[in-house]
Amino acid sequence: MSNVVGINEFVGTANGETHCWLCQKPLSIRALFCHFCGTVQPVREIDHFTRLGLDRSLDVDGELLERQYKALNKSLDPERFLIRGIGERGHASKQRDALNEAYETLRKPLKRGRYWLRLQGKELDGDQEPSSLMADLRQELLAACDPCQCDRAAQKAGQLLEQGVVLLMKALREENWAEANAILVRLDGIDGFCDEVRVRRKELCGIQH
Ligand SMILES: [Zn+2]
Repeated sequence: MSNVVGINEFVGTANGETHCWLCQKPLSIRALFCHFCGTVQPVREIDHFTRLGLDRSLDVDGELLERQYKALNKSLDPERFLIRGIGERGHASKQRDALNEAYETLRKPLKRGRYWLRLQGKELDGDQEPSSLMADLRQELLAACDPCQCDRAAQKAGQLLEQGVVLLMKALREENWAEANAILVRLDGIDGFCDEVRVRRKELCGIQH
């Protein structure tokens, strides 16, 4: 179970206690609300897994993630804070932002993979030559003169992305950090390419109509 890491390995205080900003009673650092006075708490420095109440694992259970996110988001619904003070409304709003960031990061394998590397302190900045495969795809896109050709390029890119994510997860599980970093750079390139295809497709659709 090397892909599940104990709670204290990333954030020393994740299990620690803190105090309610209002009534000063002790609280778990993960608590959104004070158990004593019910006040919403400020955003604390905890990792995304902890924020969503999930085990720290590369393989996130998608359904559980959705459930946790929805429940937490509901408890932070702005409607609930309409009659609270400015301080509490501010904390609730920042908690929602932090929750959304955690959710968006863990939901997508590519983002989760990069976050995992960062948590392990293994994220590298490295330039990488674009692969010949990407160069071919780019050529194909440049030559595309109708939306169908764009779709074909997008399909190939999507396939590469899918295969890449499988390889990325494998490298991360095996703690092959150099490989994982190299794959991430490649996948970012493909991801960017997918955006370019969408733009090109829109242009071509505009020309046709
Ligand atoms: Zn309190």
